Order: sequence, then structure tokens, then C-alpha cells
Amino acid sequence: VIDPYREIEIGTVGVADADLVDAAVTEAGRSLAAWSATAPATRADILDRTADLLEQRGAEIAATVSAEMGMPITLAAATQRDLPVSVLRSMAAATRAFAWSENIDGAVLHRVPAGIVAAITPWNMPVHQIVAKVAAALAAGCTVVLKPAEATPFDAELIRSCFIDAGVPAQGFAIVNGDGPTTGAALSAHPGLAHVSFTGSVRGGQAVARAAAGALTRTTLELGGKSPAVVLADADLATVIPKVFGSGLVNSGQACNATTRLILPAAHAGRIEELLVAAAGAARLGDPADPSTTHGPLASRIQTDRVLEHIATARESGARFVIGTGETEPSRGSDCFIAPIVLADLPPDAAAVREEIFGPVLVIQYYDDEAQAITLANDCQYGLSAEVWSGSTDHARAVAGELEVGQVKVNGVRTRMRPAVPFGGLKRSGYGRELGAVGLAEFTEIKAVMS
Ligand code: ADP
Repeated sequence: VIDPYREIEIGTVGVADADLVDAAVTEAGRSLAAWSATAPATRADILDRTADLLEQRGAEIAATVSAEMGMPITLAAATQRDLPVSVLRSMAAATRAFAWSENIDGAVLHRVPAGIVAAITPWNMPVHQIVAKVAAALAAGCTVVLKPAEATPFDAELIRSCFIDAGVPAQGFAIVNGDGPTTGAALSAHPGLAHVSFTGSVRGGQAVARAAAGALTRTTLELGGKSPAVVLADADLATVIPKVFGSGLVNSGQACNATTRLILPAAHAGRIEELLVAAAGAARLGDPADPSTTHGPLASRIQTDRVLEHIATARESGARFVIGTGETEPSRGSDCFIAPIVLADLPPDAAAVREEIFGPVLVIQYYDDEAQAITLANDCQYGLSAEVWSGSTDHARAVAGELEVGQVKVNGVRTRMRPAVPFGGLKRSGYGRELGAVGLAEFTEIKAVMS
């Protein structure tokens, strides 16, 4: 595991083979009966205690994530401590309020735990992704085997210790480390599982769904995105444009729901580009451990090379570089720095417009009227998330209703503020939802008793 800022090894982990994966699933199976028999209120209390422990240990957890993949420490504290704490507390509340049984047409429908859940998670928001899956599965009464991303194994151990110290049985939450093709593949094909919840690339998700199909194991897939930020002509541009710039480049664009397509009114192009340049001037690239850093390095050399390739292809497609050059900036402290880039004038079928880059690259798509804005937003293979910005909430909601995505955020609402709202996508962004009561229900089965 390499710290991408210091470019030094911070530790090593092994790669679990199929036998080790099998042992972990068997272990998770041993504690399933006892855990699924606990009262939902007991499980909710344990999630609340986990939140308390995560909060107490938050500084260490945020620093670990920051070293593993270069996330600026201020962002890590907000998204890898505060966000998972609120997700845990909201999942505890959802567990207490959940309709564990209801009457329908003379029958009683019971929501029962699905069984053993595998969680396969990425490196970009590692703690949040783990907590979103593990908290919901445990809340449902399932036990869990987690395979964290190979780049970020150490924060996973810290999170697990919060769950175990809060009262989850040690066998009920196992971790297997390793890469996708070995450990991830063995885990998703394991016949003992009830459900695989995966977050990562489209290719990884397809492999998981194929492997899981062998045992008819259900899957939840949270995959890529090329999410639009639609700025309506009545928005206050001076306020909105810096925010749109910030949210597209959160975590240096390494976020599946980063709004990396800016759908903007052509009538205000000149003013908008001035505001974008000013926003880029306020970005601070540097040591992730420095609280004033807004953009760290990309997570690895491999990721940096992938992004550079995307930028070179965009240049060949005739992109105009509104901001940035597309070179690495080793003077910032490592070879993994790329300063924010904003591209314009690309043809609609250019790869930079259509494909997820997972780096600090925003693409402007100008529109002449609102119908065109909606068409541009929906002309996308992905459907994870979108933002709409407007001077009128009603106007923004009307446009939100037209967008083909799983989640729309109006005027800068953040997941942190709404941790019980389901998250997940359409089209090639995958299927299924995480968070809140809907996320909990993913890990239950319905059992109907008619009498
Ligand atoms: P990213 O490009 O974000 O790293 P990946 O899909 O490669 O996305 O990785 C996300 C997670 O999925 C990681 O934990 C990785 O090890 C795992 N993974 C990758 N490929 C597979 C696969 N074929 N089967 C199961 N898990 C996989």
C-alpha cells in the first residue's frame, strides 16, 4: 500500500485465496443464527455505539485514509468520519422505525435477514462505502464478509474494530484482503452468500454479477457516473459557479457521483468562464495532511496515468482548455498531482464527454434553451446522480423531474445533510439502492405467512 503523496510504502497486506475466502464465509455463517435473532432495537443500539466509537477514533481513521489514497485531511474528516457517523446514526433510526412485519390481504409479511452478505468496496471514499454497506447489512440481521479495496485496507480494519467493540460478534463481520481478480472473484462466486453489494467500476460490477449468477446470489451494483450539474439561467452565477466547480472536483474528481459535466447557459458563457477561472485560482494543491489543502494527489500512479490518457484523447478531439494544461505537477510534492482542468468545445460524442474519467477533469456543455439542457443531461450511458441549480426551488424541482438518474440534488444539498435518502443509479450506473430504510430493505427477504 503506497502513500501517493510521499510515494512510500505504508504497509503490506496479503491476497486471500479461495480457501481463505471460504473460511471467512463459513465463519460469518456460524454467527448468523444468533445475530439474526437479536432484536432490531439491540442492533440499532450497537450501530449508535459504533457511531460513537467512530467519532472518537475519527482523527486516526481520517489520517489513515489520507495516507492510503491522498485525500485532503479536511475532506477526509468530513466524508470519512462525519458522514459515516451520520449514516450509522440514521441507519440506527431506520432500524428502529422499520416495518419488520405488516399485514397485506390477510397475510403477514415478515422482513427476514437475507443471510450472509459480501461487501466489495472501492478506495475513493473507503470508509463511507464500507459503512453504507456493513451498517445496513448488520441492521437487517445479516452477517458480513468485507473485501475492501486493495489500496485502502487499513482504514477497513479500524472501522471493523469500531463495530466489534460496539457489540457486533467478531465472527459476524469478517474481512478478506486482496485484489479483484483473486479475492473479489472468489468471494462473489461463493455459493454460501445471500447477497453481494459491490461499488466500483462497470467492468468489476459486470464480473461480480456474472460470478454471483452461478449461485443465483442477489447483487447490488453501484458503478460509475458522468453526472451532470445543470445550472439554469435564473441561477445566481457568482454564487453557484464556484460551488459547481467544487462539487465536480470533490476528491480530485475521484467520486462516482462527482458532477463532472457542467451543463451551462451559452448566453452567459463569458461570465461563467471568468468565474470558473477565479474558482480554480482558489484551489490549493499540496500535502493532504495540511488542513488548508483542497486537492491532494490522485490516489496512485496508475490512476494518474489513466487520467493523463483521457486528457490526451480530449486534446486530440479538439478540446479547448478553459483551465489547466493537463500536465502533472511534481513540484506540488509527488508525481500524482494534476491541477483542475475544465474543457469546452468538445463534440458530443467525444470520450471526455461520455466516459467517466475519475480525475480532476470537468467538461462544459453549453445549452441554448432548457429543453436542450435536459436532453444533454440525459444523453449519457450513466444515471447515478445530478445537480440542478436555480434561483427558484420549484423551477429546479421541475427540471429534476425530467432527469434520468437515481438522485438529484437541488441547490447544493449534500448526502451528509440527508443520510437516510437512498443512493444508487440507473443504466450503466448499476441497480439497487443504499442508505436509509431502502438500503436496509436490500438485505432482507420477504416471507409471507397466510392463515
Ligand atoms: P476502481 O477502478 O474504482 O478501483 P474496481 O471495480 O477495479 O474499481 O474496484 C472496486 C472494488 O472491486 C475493489 O475492491 C476491487 O478489488 C474489486 N474488484 C475489481 N474487480 C473485481 C472482480 N472481477 N471481482 C470482484 N471484485 C473485483
